[in-house]
Amino acid sequence: MTERQPLIAGNWKMHKTLAEARTLARAIRQGAAAGRWAEVALAPPYTALAAVAEELAGSEIRLAAQDTFWEKQGAYTGAISPLMLKDVGCHYVIVGHSERRQFFGETNHTVNQKIKATLAVGLSVILCVGETKDEREGGLTILRVAEQLQEGLAGLTAAPEQLVIAYEPVWAIGTGLTATPDQAQEVHAFIRAELTRLLGVGAPYRIQYGGSVTPDNAAILLGQPDIDGALVGGASLKPELFLPIIAAAG
Ligand code: PEP
Repeated sequence: MTERQPLIAGNWKMHKTLAEARTLARAIRQGAAAGRWAEVALAPPYTALAAVAEELAGSEIRLAAQDTFWEKQGAYTGAISPLMLKDVGCHYVIVGHSERRQFFGETNHTVNQKIKATLAVGLSVILCVGETKDEREGGLTILRVAEQLQEGLAGLTAAPEQLVIAYEPVWAIGTGLTATPDQAQEVHAFIRAELTRLLGVGAPYRIQYGGSVTPDNAAILLGQPDIDGALVGGASLKPELFLPIIAAAG
């Protein structure tokens, strides 16, 4: 990968019934310009993965899951394995989203286990990292992100097409607050340097920005040298917001 292809991914979180998910997936499929440069991925809730897979069949839009578990199968009530996600048609698995860390006890160690299990079945990972408001205000942003990368990626290798990092400042998620392009670029450049240190090479890996991305701020954020796409929450639920973000990526 010489020039990094931007990845615009929509994280639908705990939204959309089956019928709503089909309608949204169809609208994005129809509205995303053919011949676009950006790669697009949709992460519906587990219950809608199969339906959205059907809607996306034959298109270049990728299916993504919002989380997984690290075991292949077994007595793990409520859990979904990477193998099951592969079976339903996923290409990406989001791991370590701040809402998983905040509400479901996700740690860097469990993130690491999930990444290893996901890569082992041949799926690709979107690893989310980012600091809280207190950490940013306390000057701890780089420390926190470094720790999440070092512990999340411990003991593994992943080719650039298998691993995407999403830098998502927690204070910017769902709040309407966005990192300035300079703030985001600074952390993205650090992440790339850290990937070089941890994986031997950083340049080919894609690093998405996430946190209140909208059609209004997408172009300037995506124009930063180390920002290779966006992980989009709220705006991914509305085609009239998500499609212009895809278009902003080229
Ligand atoms: C997210 O949940 O990954 C996210 C970035 O959400 P939002 O775009 O709503 O801030």
